[in-house]
Amino acid sequence: METRVIEIDPLDDCRRVYREAADLLAAGELVAIPTETVYGLGADAFNADAVARVFAVKERPSFDPLICHLSNARALKDIADVPEALQPLVDKLAKEFWPGPMTLVLPRRACVPDVVTSGLPTVACRVTSHEAMRGVARALGHPIAAPSANRFGNISPTSAGAVLKELGGSISLVLDAGACSEGLESTILQPFIDEKGKPAVRLLREGPVTREKLRGICRVVKPGKGGEAEASLPNAPGQIKSHYAPGKPLLLHDPRTPFEPQEGVAYGLISYKGDSPLAEQDCWVETMTLSPGSGRLVEAAVRLFAVMRAMDENEEVQVIVAEELPKMGLGYAMMDRLTRASARRDD
Ligand code: AMP
Ligand code: MG
Repeated sequence: METRVIEIDPLDDCRRVYREAADLLAAGELVAIPTETVYGLGADAFNADAVARVFAVKERPSFDPLICHLSNARALKDIADVPEALQPLVDKLAKEFWPGPMTLVLPRRACVPDVVTSGLPTVACRVTSHEAMRGVARALGHPIAAPSANRFGNISPTSAGAVLKELGGSISLVLDAGACSEGLESTILQPFIDEKGKPAVRLLREGPVTREKLRGICRVVKPGKGGEAEASLPNAPGQIKSHYAPGKPLLLHDPRTPFEPQEGVAYGLISYKGDSPLAEQDCWVETMTLSPGSGRLVEAAVRLFAVMRAMDENEEVQVIVAEELPKMGLGYAMMDRLTRASARRDD
């Protein structure tokens, strides 16, 4: 199959292109569509056969459920049954973070096919701030089920070029709106009522909506730490140990401590600011810096996956070493991805 690429500028009127993409989705085809986090591989969420093709093309295991993208927050009720007790918290989170990089896991409505939710009683819902995904969902009139547009376990694509390398030839169309502005997958939250009867959220995946941003809105618990009320929620699948992984081994290393290279191995370093004691060692065949100078986590997050890809494609590098990042703000989400990238795929 030939994969077409259409370049778009979401600041222009793109309705004709969104209509074209929606028509392909309505015919059961797959289209890669940008969001502010990463590029998604979209299918009509209400077409179970099309969604099944997403799993086939990505080689994604069927137990790993997909996120549904909505054209706006009002469409939430089309796929989720929000319990009355959680409605005020859901409204507050939606008002604060939608459109944006936040996904809410909520009780599903029966119209959502099992293949989307991997048979779970819940569905993951998101309203992205990217006009392209919302525009196509609006034109389709249905939510779009869209995981990241990469083969399962690989690094998520943050550009149309990265999508083509992953899935070119297997999908109909890529909408190319340039690089993603956040660069890390959405924060996933599951609202629930805690043991004191108060609304809280379970942080299923760290992302651009950081713990700090959530503080002041509600209690945030890590999976398994929320007592009995949290334990009664269905398990969160998909938090697989090895994920977001380059083809080469990746080691995480404290930037303040010396690295002891093995004789005959060519190492490439991913440094945060480029001026650590680690970066100053002379054992690297390549050094790439995420945010040169004073170091900004936002800039590092935007570049992380593209830099991991570039290291993976650099033929001189055999093993990637990545500096541990500060444990604050976006640093948590980046460390989560790097830790999974460093886990062996057969672990
Ligand atoms: P992505 O691969 O970025 O599309 O992320 C999808 C992830 O969302 C999955 O791997 C799960 O971790 C999470 N997810 C989706 N649906 C659910 C659900 N119903 N319950 C819990 N987690 C979910
Ligand atoms: Mg993914």
